[in-house]
Amino acid sequence: MGRLAKQHEETELVVVGAGLAGVCAAIAAARRGIRVTLIEKESSPGGMAAGLRHRFMCGLFTNSASAPRKYLNRGLTEEVCRQVSSRKAPVKMGKVWLLPYDPDRLMIVLHALLTRERNIQVSYGSKVISCSLQAGSIQSVQYSCFGKLCQFNAAVFIDAGVGILLDKCKAFIPLDPLKRQMSGFAVEMDGVPWDDDLSFRVPYVLYQAVQREALPLYARWTVVMPCAEKGRLYLKLSLPAMGGLPLAGQTAMAIVRILRQKISAFSSAKIVWQAPDVFSRDVDRLDGRYVFKDNDLLVGKKFSDAVVKGSWPMEFWDLKRGPQYRYLNGDHYELPLRSLRANKVFNLFSAGRSVSAEPGAQASLRVGGLCLATGEAAGNAAVDYLKNASVTE
Ligand SMILES: Cc1cc2nc3c(=O)[nH]c(=O)nc-3n(C[C@H](O)[C@H](O)[C@H](O)COP(=O)(O)OP(=O)(O)OC[C@H]3O[C@@H](n4cnc5c(N)ncnc54)[C@H](O)[C@@H]3O)c2cc1C
Repeated sequence: MGRLAKQHEETELVVVGAGLAGVCAAIAAARRGIRVTLIEKESSPGGMAAGLRHRFMCGLFTNSASAPRKYLNRGLTEEVCRQVSSRKAPVKMGKVWLLPYDPDRLMIVLHALLTRERNIQVSYGSKVISCSLQAGSIQSVQYSCFGKLCQFNAAVFIDAGVGILLDKCKAFIPLDPLKRQMSGFAVEMDGVPWDDDLSFRVPYVLYQAVQREALPLYARWTVVMPCAEKGRLYLKLSLPAMGGLPLAGQTAMAIVRILRQKISAFSSAKIVWQAPDVFSRDVDRLDGRYVFKDNDLLVGKKFSDAVVKGSWPMEFWDLKRGPQYRYLNGDHYELPLRSLRANKVFNLFSAGRSVSAEPGAQASLRVGGLCLATGEAAGNAAVDYLKNASVTE
């Protein structure tokens, strides 16, 4: 794994957050010869994709009728996905194509990729708490590490799906509380022999329990799927945006109680794993040089400074109505580089969930495959900025 950071150092690029976006941003920049420090508050990479143990990488392909042969975004997105998935071909669910992958492999692959890069220094267990801004540019970030306050000075900074730098520099578009998506939590259960009927029976039983007020409305949007291990099953729960771990735990227990009562396959099922936290689908977004519009996505708009291609629909998890999908008209949309660059802070870029976009567009750009791609694009943009090359002003 990357070398351990010292207490007070100089680097060229600081990337905050080692989720899918941050790892790709760091690797893209390091491979172009830049010294990168990746700061992560947890002890391993992967962010919420690792924390929630998703089974499918979304946002990698167009929504074509036949199986897509090419990744929309090649480069690091394809490199990571080919290593985490043993499947060469995607699978179709509804109108979209997804890549099944092994969640246990994700963290191993990200670790291995980071370790290979000599230009990357990873500082795990380090929580960024603030940054110093001078004459419109960030000078340094301050972070706490094992109770000590440390600092990194750098020339350019990437906030990778975290929001802390955007917040401290007041470079964000606040989330509209009425347009917040539900948060997510997951558990795995053992002792449930999988049967394809369960993917219909579980939602039906939960729907009935909500109707008779034995469960809260949001329990209805729980998704069930089998794990690779025999007899093991994965439940992905959605919760009110501000719901914390106690609510998540109570909801999971209530759901399991109902399933045990109503479906015989669950009679001896028990929870054997739970996500370490409740994860938010949205976050304050960058006040960027271009705010990517919902309509840009729907019409499949193209840009001269495009850096990422997307085809994933707006997938908006509404508290009352559940998941709402709106598909784009056309093959794909493009995201411009300007949506990764701060409007008023000169040396700040963003990637992953916090790129500059309207809420509906963010509900597409936030999926794993597109976080990988915006991460790589932000890493490249930061290098171009450092080299004073072709960054669009
Ligand atoms: C319930 C739910 C289900 C989902 N299902 C899928 C799915 O099936 N397929 C799919 O492709 N996508 C799915 N997604 C979306 C996808 O997982 C995430 O949007 C994506 O992984 C976000 O990546 P990121 O790198 O932008 O951010 P994150 O993964 O959030 O990474 C940010 C990192 O920053 C770290 N961090 C935070 N604050 C600080 C700080 N102050 N200092 C230092 N480090 C910090 C965090 O620990 C984290 O590691 C789902 C999301 C949710 C919420």
